[in-house]
Amino acid sequence: MLIANAVLADGTTRHIDVERGRIAALLPAEADVPARDDVLDVAGALLLPPLVDGHIHLDKTLLGLPWIANQSAGNRVADRIEAERRVRAARTVPEAETGSNLVRQVMASGTLHMRSHVDIDNQLGLGNLHEVLKIRERFRDLVTIQIVAFPQSGILRSPGTAELLDAAIAEGADLVGGLDPVGIDGDLDGHLDAIFTIAGRRDVGVDIHLHDGGEGGITQLLAIAARATTAGLQGRTTVSHAFALGSVDADTAARTADVLAKAGIAIMSHGPGGAPIPPLSLLHRHGVRVFGGSDNIRDAWSPFGNGDMLERATMIAYRANFRHDHELQFAFDMVTGAAAHVLGIEDYGIAIGAAADFVAVDAGSVAEAVATRPRRKLVIKGGKIVARDGVLAV
Ligand SMILES: [Zn+2]
Repeated sequence: MLIANAVLADGTTRHIDVERGRIAALLPAEADVPARDDVLDVAGALLLPPLVDGHIHLDKTLLGLPWIANQSAGNRVADRIEAERRVRAARTVPEAETGSNLVRQVMASGTLHMRSHVDIDNQLGLGNLHEVLKIRERFRDLVTIQIVAFPQSGILRSPGTAELLDAAIAEGADLVGGLDPVGIDGDLDGHLDAIFTIAGRRDVGVDIHLHDGGEGGITQLLAIAARATTAGLQGRTTVSHAFALGSVDADTAARTADVLAKAGIAIMSHGPGGAPIPPLSLLHRHGVRVFGGSDNIRDAWSPFGNGDMLERATMIAYRANFRHDHELQFAFDMVTGAAAHVLGIEDYGIAIGAAADFVAVDAGSVAEAVATRPRRKLVIKGGKIVARDGVLAV
């Protein structure tokens, strides 16, 4: 395949030669386009690397089912956990089906790599993991699905969960998760002991949901940084949300950012609607890798979301009060290159030798794409078209 007349993020026009699913050459605009059957002329469309969702919950979504009203009695994380139990008890469609609905939808919008957290507790056991493993198998040639064994009900307050998290890794989960060590489990050391023991034994990374705000949240961030350093998990540890960084003064945030950067802790933000957003630019300036994810999509936690990571970049930029092109480009990087780096996606990006995976849109620049969220004209995986004009072609 030869993709002709593609405008890249740097503004240059190139013809892209694809061989065996990889980028073989990036030819200058002046080069002759051969008269071959396999030339795909994108006529000046902006060709971007595929979108990456760094935080999704494939087992939670209710996508494809009739509307289910949010049943949470209050606004605390604990209220939502309870509401989800009721919704789960009533559902009859397996998670592999609703999760597959979501994977198809996000592929059509250009996402080809994702990290999914999967609920594990002493009531669910490994049931949800098995459902998401089915999804991963079903789409193995099309999307990368990294799995985090996520203790949604806590670890200490749901006895047996630590053993289940360990078993989940043995059965195919890629990382061990965590959840508000103080806010949910009330035991910072106990919670982190469990997580980092499993991570060390299984040699896997860590991704911890941390909603706890204020100084208490900062204390937990510092503890996670210390644990990651001791365990040799720098560069393999993520804190998702980290609302605390957005709820303390700038000096505290900056001091904490320095510690996080030194410990190689990445921060995931979805541009939260109802919580303080971490100071993304400050974190970046201090050397912390920040990346984006959808989090909840049409589930017992949130009625919103569609998995479109370009739209997510818009929301992140809006919440972060980004206005300049370089800031919009930064938001775009959060849902592409930065997320791919955190997920350890090899051969990512538009470069010779990289996988021939692309999203084509009608926009003059990355900044314009983030601001206007244009329709995805084409999604290409390994040199093959998998979606056209937002509709799946496979
Ligand atoms: Zn989440």
